[in-house]
Amino acid sequence: MTIKQLQTATTAKLKPYQSARSTDLTGSVWLNANENPYLNPAIKGLEIHANRYPQPQPEVLIQAYADYATVAPNNVLVTRGADEGIELLIRSFCEPSQDSILITSPTYGMYAVSANSQNVGVIDVPLDQDFQPIKDDISAQIAATKIVFLCCPNNPTGSRIPLETIESILQLAQGKCLVVVDEAYIEFSAQPSAVNLLEKYPNLVILRTLSKAFGLAGIRCGFVLANTDIIQIMKKQIAPYPLCCFAIDTAIQALQTPYLAWMKESVKQINQQKQSLQSWLKETLSWTPLCTSDTNFIAYQFDTEVADSLFFFLAEQDMLVRKFDTVQPSQSEIRITMGTPQEMSQLKKYLSLFFAKNDNRTVSNAGVTV
Ligand SMILES: *Cc1c(COP(=O)(O)O)cnc(C)c1O
Repeated sequence: MTIKQLQTATTAKLKPYQSARSTDLTGSVWLNANENPYLNPAIKGLEIHANRYPQPQPEVLIQAYADYATVAPNNVLVTRGADEGIELLIRSFCEPSQDSILITSPTYGMYAVSANSQNVGVIDVPLDQDFQPIKDDISAQIAATKIVFLCCPNNPTGSRIPLETIESILQLAQGKCLVVVDEAYIEFSAQPSAVNLLEKYPNLVILRTLSKAFGLAGIRCGFVLANTDIIQIMKKQIAPYPLCCFAIDTAIQALQTPYLAWMKESVKQINQQKQSLQSWLKETLSWTPLCTSDTNFIAYQFDTEVADSLFFFLAEQDMLVRKFDTVQPSQSEIRITMGTPQEMSQLKKYLSLFFAKNDNRTVSNAGVTV
C-alpha cells in the first residue's frame, strides 16, 4: 500500500482550499484577503503563562464577547476562527454520506470545502441577480438539507440580505434545519446583526470573527452565537484547547473599551476609503461595482480576459487582489480589499497606468448594473 492508497476515498477526492495566503503569488501590498491593513494596538504588553494549558472556553473572553454581541455568555462559543465554527457545525449536525448543507452561490468558499472534506453533500441555490436568496428555491430544498448557510454581508460580493428575508428563511426552516448567518463583516455594515432573532428562532446560528474589523486575522479567533442547545452540542465536537493563550489574551484586550473604540474608528476609516475609491473608479474609469458593498472590499466585474490581465498586471507591481469566477459565465470579479490610504493611492496609480495602456472600451465595466 502506498501512502496515497491509505487515505480515505473522501480525502482522495479533495482539493486543498486556495486561500488568499496559499497562492504562490508574492507581493508587498496585500489587498486580497479582506484583512484590516492596520495593526490592532491590543497586541502589545501581554503577560502570559504559556507553561499552562489555556482554558478551553475562557470565561473572561466569553463574557467580553457576549457583552459586545449583546447576548448571554452561554450563547457564545469561541473557536479557532469562524472557519472552525463552520467545520464544527457540519461535523455536529451532518451525517457523512447522508446529509447535505445548502449554500447560495456566489458565497464564501469554506462552506462547501468543509462539507466536502467531511463527505457531506452541498446543495447550491444560487442568489438572484440582485444577490438575494431565492426563498421558493430554498424552500424546495429545505427537507433535503441540515444547514442553510447565508452570508450577510456576503463574501465575495459585499451584498447584504435584509433582516426580513433572513427571518422569512428562518421561518421556513423552523423545526427542520439550522440557518447559519455568517456575519464576518457585520461591523462594516449599517444593517444591524441578526442577533436579536436568536430568542425567537432556536435554529439560528450566527458566526463572527476578530479577523476583519478587529484587525486580528493572525490570532485565529472566531465566535459562534446560538441557543444553548446548539452550543452544548458543538462543545462535544470541539478540540480541547482550540485557542492558544496568546490568542486568548489578545482577544480579551481587543474587546476592552479603548480597543473597541479603535476598531470602530478603523471601520469608519475603511468605509471612507471604500467610498472614495469607489467614486474615483467611477469618475476616472467609469467602473461600476458589482453591488453596494457592506464590507471592507469592493468587487468589480469584467470579461474574464480583462480580469486576468488586470490581476497579473497588479501582481507584477507587487500588489495582490483577488479574482473570482463565480458570478456569471465568461465573467470574472476582481475583489479589492481596502488598504491604507497610501496603498489606495498606489492602487489608483497602477489602475490609471493599466487603463492608459489598454483600450478604454475593453477595460470599462460600465455595462454592469448596480
Ligand atoms: C474571513 C471569513 C471567514 C473566516 O474567518 P476566520 O475567523 O478568519 O476563520 C468566515 N466567513 C467569511 C464570510 C469570511 O469572509
